[in-house]
Amino acid sequence: MKLPSLLKPKQKAKDIYSINFDELKKLGITNLILDVDETLLPRRSLDISPKLFEWVATRKEEGFKLCLTSNSRQPIRVQYIGKTLTLPYIFFGLKPLPFAFWQAMKILESQPANTAMIGDQLFMDILGANFLGIYSIFTKLITPETFLPRQWMRQVEDWLLGRLQ
Ligand SMILES: [Mg+2]
Repeated sequence: MKLPSLLKPKQKAKDIYSINFDELKKLGITNLILDVDETLLPRRSLDISPKLFEWVATRKEEGFKLCLTSNSRQPIRVQYIGKTLTLPYIFFGLKPLPFAFWQAMKILESQPANTAMIGDQLFMDILGANFLGIYSIFTKLITPETFLPRQWMRQVEDWLLGRLQ
């Protein structure tokens, strides 16, 4: 597989709330690996909204198993979010390296074929998932970047997403 195809998400969505989970089920996907920062919550935020609670609860009712993966080096924050949402969590995940994905699939007792990764970063969430054959869903970041190197990275992502159409 060439690098561009490894960076191409299988699906793009505005946010986690606009993903069609019935469609995912039809594809045989029953396990979700979730990125935290800018996918579920703004970076550094601990503000878990009722809407997010409900989203998680609904997925569980639908029969999905979920696991959080974060590259964050702040275990306390990821732990807080995981415990509050009663979800297993992995921090310091080193995505796109495969370790966090393998660990998540072990926790979920899943295989790439029945697992989807939902995340906001092409070079971490999408690349890592595609490399292992996990169904990749790209969501737009929640808050605009203010840190310049991140702004550049987002511009590269946008350019790539345009090119990969
Ligand atoms: Mg993220």
